[in-house]
Amino acid sequence: MVDDIALRASGLIMEFKGFRAVDGVDLAIPRGTIHALIGPNGAGKSTCFNLLTKVLTPTAGAIHFEGRDITGLSPANVARLGIVRSFQISAVFGTMTVLENVRIALQRHRHGDSWDFWRSDRVLAHLHEEALALLASVGLADYAGHVANDLPYGRKRALEIATTLALEPRVLLLDEPMAGMTQEDVTRISALIRKVAVGRTVVMVEHNLSVVADLSDRITVLARGKILAEGEYADVARDPRVIEAYIGVAHA
Ligand code: ADP
Ligand code: MG
Repeated sequence: MVDDIALRASGLIMEFKGFRAVDGVDLAIPRGTIHALIGPNGAGKSTCFNLLTKVLTPTAGAIHFEGRDITGLSPANVARLGIVRSFQISAVFGTMTVLENVRIALQRHRHGDSWDFWRSDRVLAHLHEEALALLASVGLADYAGHVANDLPYGRKRALEIATTLALEPRVLLLDEPMAGMTQEDVTRISALIRKVAVGRTVVMVEHNLSVVADLSDRITVLARGKILAEGEYADVARDPRVIEAYIGVAHA
């Protein structure tokens, strides 16, 4: 049976020394949608995110990817299935050029970590072409020869997206993609996320609510480890429980 739910979480619980950071969370994220996880500080967003990417193993509950139980898999194994996180574990090598970064990401994805020094010129030329195409798709064509460390912040994030796309993700998980960005970068990276979301499923934790409103098909609001509300932005934004949770924190 083909499940049109890309990622499903059922009864997820994560306890830290008896404290429930995530307390019975159910999610069903349809394929091809952008889903945002929001909520006040300490709500359990990062913990949920780490459960979905298998960085953490839940105390109880299950996670399914396209109908397959992935609860017991390692982060490397879920990445191989196409569930890839961006941004937090930065895949960028600062002293290499933008182009080299993407070429290496492509090479690793195709051929693994075992370096093969006998690789043919034809294969390398092909990777080079592919890397250029990927850079063009994230708006970095003009930066190909730049050293990654020299990129402005927003461009570095675009490079991170490019190295993530090299892994051909089916589900892309983004933890606070807009953190620390200028408005100009936010606009650019928003457009980029919308573009790369085509044909993929995107799950993001994001504090910038206008970005969430703009990009997300659906939103789950967490508070104290539980789901407070879920739906389209316009609906959750006027839910009194959501307003209360945010205002409660603002006044804490
Ligand atoms: P959010 O990302 O929504 O701000 P987190 O998922 O980071 O929330 O944290 C949720 C709650 O779980 C917080 O109270 C936090 O202190 C606690 N917590 C998170 N990680 C750990 C950990 N490794 N050990 C103990 N408590 C943790
Ligand atoms: Mg967090």
